[in-house]
Amino acid sequence: MAELEGLEFGKSDFVLLDEVTMEQFMENLKLRFEKGRIYTYIGEVVVSVNPYRQMDIYGKDNIEAYRGRELYENPPHLYAVSDAAYKAMKRRAKDTCIVISGESGAGKTEASKYIMQYIAAITNPSQRAEVESVKNVLLKSNCVLEAFGNAKTNRNDNSSRFGKYMDINFNFNGDPTGGHINNYLLEKSRVVHQQGGERNFHSFYQVNCSLHFCCKTVIATSNNDRSSHKAVLSALEVIGFSKEEITSVYQILATILLLGNMQFESDGESVNIVGQEVVNHISELTATDPESVNKSLLYRTVATGGGEVIEKGHTEQDACFGRDAFAKALYERLFGWIVSRINSIIEVKDYDPVLHGKNTVIGVLDIYGFEIFDNNSFEQFCINYCNEKLQQLFIELILRQEQDEYQREGITWQHIEYFNNQIIVDLVEQAHKGIISILDEACLTVGKVTDTVCLDSMDTKLAQHPHYTSRKLSPTDKSMDFQKHFRIRHYAGDVTKNNDRLLCLSSRVANPVLKEMWPDGHLSITEVTKRPLTAATLFKNSIVALVDKLACKEPYYVRCIKPNEMKSPVLFDDARCQHQVAYLGLLENVRVRRAGFAYRQLYARFLQRYKMTCEYTWPNHLMASDREAVEAIVIQHGFQDDVAYGQTKLFVRTPRSLFTLEQERNHLI
Ligand code: ADP
Ligand code: MG
Repeated sequence: MAELEGLEFGKSDFVLLDEVTMEQFMENLKLRFEKGRIYTYIGEVVVSVNPYRQMDIYGKDNIEAYRGRELYENPPHLYAVSDAAYKAMKRRAKDTCIVISGESGAGKTEASKYIMQYIAAITNPSQRAEVESVKNVLLKSNCVLEAFGNAKTNRNDNSSRFGKYMDINFNFNGDPTGGHINNYLLEKSRVVHQQGGERNFHSFYQVNCSLHFCCKTVIATSNNDRSSHKAVLSALEVIGFSKEEITSVYQILATILLLGNMQFESDGESVNIVGQEVVNHISELTATDPESVNKSLLYRTVATGGGEVIEKGHTEQDACFGRDAFAKALYERLFGWIVSRINSIIEVKDYDPVLHGKNTVIGVLDIYGFEIFDNNSFEQFCINYCNEKLQQLFIELILRQEQDEYQREGITWQHIEYFNNQIIVDLVEQAHKGIISILDEACLTVGKVTDTVCLDSMDTKLAQHPHYTSRKLSPTDKSMDFQKHFRIRHYAGDVTKNNDRLLCLSSRVANPVLKEMWPDGHLSITEVTKRPLTAATLFKNSIVALVDKLACKEPYYVRCIKPNEMKSPVLFDDARCQHQVAYLGLLENVRVRRAGFAYRQLYARFLQRYKMTCEYTWPNHLMASDREAVEAIVIQHGFQDDVAYGQTKLFVRTPRSLFTLEQERNHLI
């Protein structure tokens, strides 16, 4: 628990609220925001409110103030949790992770960068060159990933359109030796379509600066884009991308832009590409012959019943759909390729556990929060499912952590009631009767699968489920569950088409990066279309793997809140904030934390702080143990019924007892 700051700044830990009610929680959150205190604890969890202004709390002095200190020794800060995660990793050889959550624009990515900067700043005091270079690559990778994975949206000018989990590896000295990045579900639909006021991925506006001939294809490139482009180029070089690779990357971006310009026309019999220039450009950029570009965009290959493979001309609509699918897939694979290229550079090599001791890890997860729009796509469905999983893990781990500590300290565990969202997770992922299974089944069915078929199948199988609402029952209900229908509709639209034509093209290209992007490019069409995993199943698998990875680490949490929709540093929108507090389950978190004991402290630390409040302990106690000395303090202040004595720590049930002590202490100093 945090140092108890002056009360004019509100309570620095929500467990100290007089009562755990939404009103009190919000009052405290707002007061602290208005006083410029953007961080508040719930035990070891940091609640952060986006300040939308530069705060003077991230400088070198601040880093020094938090370095090696305990959570409660300083005001709440990201640095304190980063240090806690680092200390646990270094002292106890534990793998730890920091999970950052919150909605778009709440400050997750900024938080993840401060955390990484802090870790970089406190490690490698001896400035060893190889460690410095690892740190540099880890930090620079952010710049590259942001260029290719972020975009301006209506909610955030620099919105991450992918989820990111980064492991940083440490040696026995506690110095970084490498890392690994996992990316989740890039919002590839943005490549071909953006909502009004939004932009495509930053990288497209930066291509302009590299390749002159496609200037006309891009909307305004700002000075900002130009300077970012320079930064990205230099980051790519520092990380270790070769000149050829960098050129290829920009060639692929240009190809995607050209595809965006491509139009089709029909002469009644066959469909053709308007203007041959664009085809020539693409074939040049991808090192493919123009004929296969033409073919791959205008024809599809189908396997007949007899196992024969024939080519069939597209309709104009199919050709457009195919072009967009191709552009999206190209970008998604390009992004994936960049991530794996970075990984191959930063992965830990030649680590010998016998020689070097245990290789430990700190993971940092920056992943999109719940998204509820008027129109929800497959992507929102996945994002929200992912959040259900993480929320579940959060509750589970927080409970488990509490339980573990009580056990370690020999204190009786009391059961805590909480909402378990397993039921919602099951609705989505259960075998055979979960939504993903139903979708998979529908998509693999031969013949035409329409949205209606899919939805009817769900209505039949899920009618009894308490968290499922049929579209027929409440067509105007905008609750989350109802919106799944929208998501599903988009989903089915996306998967009815297969990627066969993309594979045809990629097997003929000579561009080396493109080739690496399609390692499965040599597969024959029949093999590929046999039983592909659908996008939903692939995503589910990746999230299940992520949760497994997190579950075996000691978790630390940062819960980000967006104070308003205007990016204003002074506006605290009560309703919007309360909504976020509710779905982040923060009240529940406070309850869990307080259910047993609101406050716990090592005996020695407790003494250090409060020994002046008791004649038997000031200036030094003469008792057999610190524990007995603490007992003397507790008895003197009359709250012996409100505490339990653990092996190493004092546990205090209600915050009130502590306030008495704090007041007494304030009197004396
Ligand atoms: P998210 O990743 O949750 O979508 P970001 O981390 O990109 O949100 O934050 C959105 C914007 O809010 C940033 O571009 C920045 O302008 C502002 N912001 C977020 N956190 C801070 C902070 N700690 N200090 C100052 N500005 C911040
Ligand atoms: Mg972000």
